[in-house]
Amino acid sequence: MEKLSVYNNVIAQFNKAADKMDLDTEIRKILGCTMNEIIIHFPVIMDDGHIQMFTGYRVQHNNVLGPFKGGLRYHPSVEIDEVRALATWMTWKSAIAGIPYGGAKGGIQLNPADYSKSELERITRRFTFALGSNIGPEYDIPAPDVNTNAQIMAWILDTYLSMMSPAEQNRCVHVVTGKPIESGGSLGRDKATGQGLVFVLEAWAADNAFDLGRATYLVQGYGNVGSWTARLLKPHGAKLLAVEDHTGALANPAGIDANDLHAYVQIHKGIAGYSGAKPITHREFMSTKADLFIPAALENQITADSAPWLQVKLVVEGANGPTNVAGDAILQERGIALLPDVLCNAGGVIVSYFEWLQNKRSEFWELEEVDAKLHRKMVGAYRRVRDTAAQFGTDWRTAAYIVALTRLEKVYKERGIFP
Ligand code: GLU
Repeated sequence: MEKLSVYNNVIAQFNKAADKMDLDTEIRKILGCTMNEIIIHFPVIMDDGHIQMFTGYRVQHNNVLGPFKGGLRYHPSVEIDEVRALATWMTWKSAIAGIPYGGAKGGIQLNPADYSKSELERITRRFTFALGSNIGPEYDIPAPDVNTNAQIMAWILDTYLSMMSPAEQNRCVHVVTGKPIESGGSLGRDKATGQGLVFVLEAWAADNAFDLGRATYLVQGYGNVGSWTARLLKPHGAKLLAVEDHTGALANPAGIDANDLHAYVQIHKGIAGYSGAKPITHREFMSTKADLFIPAALENQITADSAPWLQVKLVVEGANGPTNVAGDAILQERGIALLPDVLCNAGGVIVSYFEWLQNKRSEFWELEEVDAKLHRKMVGAYRRVRDTAAQFGTDWRTAAYIVALTRLEKVYKERGIFP
């Protein structure tokens, strides 16, 4: 099947919001385009002594609100169109969350499962070296994304610092976020995206007299976002009916224990073979009747083909770009509500911002402090999007874009265009 262009999708979403809010036509030209696109082909020595060439990307969409910010993804699907889209979403996300960052994204086209730990370390270090001064603590700050984690951030940090003079090194620990705690990471960063999503869902549930304790839900993707979301929903009493990842799909009408499944996935690297639920097909997974669907994997999952299958009341987007424009239209037609990615999954970059601040100030915040600050930011963003949706009489994705674009437009108007 031909891959749908994710970037075309972002531009369609952008145009819809820009029309609706009547975005300045000159500023539309700037925001409808990325700023810098770096593509690097670099060699790495494999464990067997041979050299393999890799392709790495960093796309910087915009930095008018602050340094470029966004994750690095290790996945076979990483290519320029996808990275452009992901970078653009980061600009909107930071603007909606009200944090002083622009948007960027990067990654390497590879399947990490094909490489040993030491190969992944060399690939990461060589890519960091090749990026050189295209990243920096006050310029462009990477973080984890699909298939990258705190260990990979620690290698990036170490490589970046190794390229600096000894006297400068301790000033630059904030060149990357999502680091291990001991290496300058923040408490609460690991769970932050899932936690932020749950905070948004709680706010929505309160507004809609929806009882999370009796809710049933589906999760697609059981990596950082999917598994943290499920584990954080468990204490609410919500029931996980079905789950899907790159290894298959499973269902249990009596409910799947989120913690137990997480422990299984830690060992087996996927949900396949988990004995607490029965295998089902992708279509059965997508058609499972439940209150909520939480996509927390990759783009283009809710499309013209699959949107008609859904039998849920609300889609809560943990992934970036899980619903394309055609999918959105079908959900709206069918009366299925949707809380968009740029709102729901902002918790990751928000706690990245907290980590960055702690590093800059040589502080170390307690988990309660991080959680309380994240809660305030997520609820603030939720209310802005909700109120904008009501004001413009539009869907929540378009409303979220309007929140972001209004902020960006204001800054461009204040600062003007050089020269
Ligand atoms: N990769 C995450 C995202 O898509 C986090 C980015 C960050 O922390 O900079 O939002």
